[in-house]
Amino acid sequence: MPIYEYICEACGQEFEKMMRFSEADLSPLCPTCGSEETHKQISRVSAGFGFSGGGDDSMSSCGGGGRFT
Ligand SMILES: [Zn+2]
Repeated sequence: MPIYEYICEACGQEFEKMMRFSEADLSPLCPTCGSEETHKQISRVSAGFGFSGGGDDSMSSCGGGGRFT
C-alpha cells in the first residue's frame, strides 16, 4: 500500500497515512486535532538520486589515463 502525506488545514499538522488506492481520494482525519480538513500532499522524492554520474565518469577516466602512462 502506498503511503501518502497529508497536511491538516486546521492545525498544520503533517502526517503520513497508508491508504488503499480505493481510499486515496478520501481525506483522513487529522491524528492531532481530528479535523477532516486534511489535504494530500504531493509526495516528496528524496534527494538521494545520483545526478553526479558524469562527474564520476570523468574522474575514473582520468585515473585510468594515469595508469596507462
Ligand atoms: Zn489537525
